[in-house]
Amino acid sequence: MWLIRRNILRMILEASKDSYPKEFGALLRAEDNVIYEISMVPGTIQGDRHTMFFMFNKAVDFSIVGSVHSHPSGVLIPSDDDLHMFGNWGPIHIIVGTPFNETSFQGFDRAGNPVPVRVI
Ligand SMILES: [Zn+2]
Repeated sequence: MWLIRRNILRMILEASKDSYPKEFGALLRAEDNVIYEISMVPGTIQGDRHTMFFMFNKAVDFSIVGSVHSHPSGVLIPSDDDLHMFGNWGPIHIIVGTPFNETSFQGFDRAGNPVPVRVI
């Protein structure tokens, strides 16, 4: 079971609102399955259709457990590109969607299966 601190979820939702209609993307840091921080990736491009994560620019950091990005469409389903990115790296990935409130997000494992993420 993954947990996320409420203040981090709020930060993600605010950043996603600010980025709208473009996508927002960042990496997730966790300790003992508690996501406690987001980390912006150098070289991340915010596109109209998709956030490109340049994972290879990422410094080796074992506190990073996955990624978060927004879907301005509101559809909380990974795209083919998302599944490719999830599969490359990290056990937990979160997609947030419009209207960017505290229930409009979904966690996924690296295979793209929905997994629960509890807000604490
Ligand atoms: Zn996506």
